[in-house]
Amino acid sequence: MTSNTTRTESAYDVVLIGGGVMSATLGALLKLLQPDWSIGMFGRLDDVAKESSNAWNNAGTGHSALCELNYTPSRADGTIDISKAVGVNEAFQLSRQFWAYLVESGVIASPRAFLNPIPHMSFVWGDENCDYLRRRYEALKDHPLFSGMRFSTDPAQLAQWMPLVMEGRTAGTKLAATWIAAGTDVNFGALTHLLVNFLSGQPGFDLKLSHEVEDLKQDASGSWRLAVRDLTSNATVSVGARFVFIGAGGGALPLLQKTGIPESKGVGGFPVSGQFLRCTNPDIVSRHHAKVYGKASVGAPPMSVPHLDTRVIDGKEGLLFGPYAGFSTKFLKQGSLWDLPKSIRMDNLGAMLAVARDNMPLTRYLVQQVLQSNETRLNALRDFVPNAQAKDWELITAGQRVQVIKKDAKKGGVLQFGTEVVTGANGTVAALLGASPGASTAVSIMLTVISKCFPSELPRWDAKLREMIPSYGAPLADRPELCAQVHERTTRSLQLES
Ligand SMILES: Cc1cc2nc3c(=O)[nH]c(=O)nc-3n(C[C@H](O)[C@H](O)[C@H](O)COP(=O)(O)OP(=O)(O)OC[C@H]3O[C@@H](n4cnc5c(N)ncnc54)[C@H](O)[C@@H]3O)c2cc1C
Repeated sequence: MTSNTTRTESAYDVVLIGGGVMSATLGALLKLLQPDWSIGMFGRLDDVAKESSNAWNNAGTGHSALCELNYTPSRADGTIDISKAVGVNEAFQLSRQFWAYLVESGVIASPRAFLNPIPHMSFVWGDENCDYLRRRYEALKDHPLFSGMRFSTDPAQLAQWMPLVMEGRTAGTKLAATWIAAGTDVNFGALTHLLVNFLSGQPGFDLKLSHEVEDLKQDASGSWRLAVRDLTSNATVSVGARFVFIGAGGGALPLLQKTGIPESKGVGGFPVSGQFLRCTNPDIVSRHHAKVYGKASVGAPPMSVPHLDTRVIDGKEGLLFGPYAGFSTKFLKQGSLWDLPKSIRMDNLGAMLAVARDNMPLTRYLVQQVLQSNETRLNALRDFVPNAQAKDWELITAGQRVQVIKKDAKKGGVLQFGTEVVTGANGTVAALLGASPGASTAVSIMLTVISKCFPSELPRWDAKLREMIPSYGAPLADRPELCAQVHERTTRSLQLES
């Protein structure tokens, strides 16, 4: 199709690029803080939440470090470092508080439409792992953010917590698990729709679907000018913005590079795709009610920890096991195979080559994952569901993650598994790169965007922020009384009593 060059001018205070949970969360926060600002949301697909935020494109774990063992490494002296776990949990508490506010204020009618209480469990086998899990439990059990956690090595107790996992298991291997009722399953796709529905009902909000942002440049006045292709008419539309959030998921890196800001130099991306096995057979689904996280195998990236999850999507329970890592050069599930090659620039080539050189175990792991047979996948599942039958499980392709590669003075380049907010041009543009701990911590990440990009507005917004998020500004871990209050209030409002 030839390009129609008709240019329509429009301008917003804020442009959100992407229709995922991150843009939707930032849009909702800003609309509540500053109702008179105009906001335009541009998404390249025909609906919001069709990439990583879609319910079946991620595992839907409300990551709060209740069960993920990679957040609690063992130190050389045998003690457990819980600092990362506390940080992830604190971040999730911000999401819980904001979501509770949205329910209390009528923005979201029913929390069960996107959030369900599902116990979180860690499950390990073998003497060494069982000993580690016991030490982890001892380190966390009295912490206010982890209260209610239980530990057991008793097969009868484990069978009560996770019958499907214990069925058909031969005696002899030492097993251990922790269980905590405070866990959640989150349908981030449904949440995105709820937030965008709220925004769509507000004055000054425009949702432009099937609109792909192709370029963005800052003009002399400091405002941004975006070239946006209307994919229905193929016309290129020119859009102005005082502030731009690049919440394009895997598509964020190429757009960040197009801004030309110095902060974009030297940054690269490494895509890792994911697959899950899904079971919807009600006989099997009814015998499991937990998110059970195990230990990652050697060389596996942290997001590849195997887990067996109860999912609640559109009111129906299903099971998910995985992820199995894959490799594609696409940056988005519905992206182009040219995404990775086109992202390589002179300024990030060195960092990318250094990462390729220094990450051989990861490369080996990915090659092994990509080449594995269905039988090998099923055997990994049988570590968790010994009686699993191939006929009950279908392989589905999840969302695409793009891990951040950054320059490093010593190593040349490093591969990061976390999330990175890149801001520049005096806080008039922010991009979100990376994907972990992901959507669960969307509120915490967007509060970081707000504090980096709108420092002069913060004093005005402070009271509203505290009304929406009572723990805003200081950790709950240091305030056990507020922690208990917040837990009680959010549990009630979000209907999380199990
Ligand atoms: C396999 C897997 C499992 C995961 N499990 C969990 C989990 O259990 N818990 C958790 O909290 N997180 C999890 N995550 C992470 C979570 O899914 C992401 O952090 C989150 O969905 C990212 O949201 P987003 O809005 O940034 O991106 P996305 O949801 O990917 O949205 C990006 C949007 O940008 C649009 N877009 C892209 N380029 C352009 C452009 N040029 N112009 C206009 N629009 C554009 C896309 O169409 C899309 O609408 C998982 C991710 C994966 C891949």
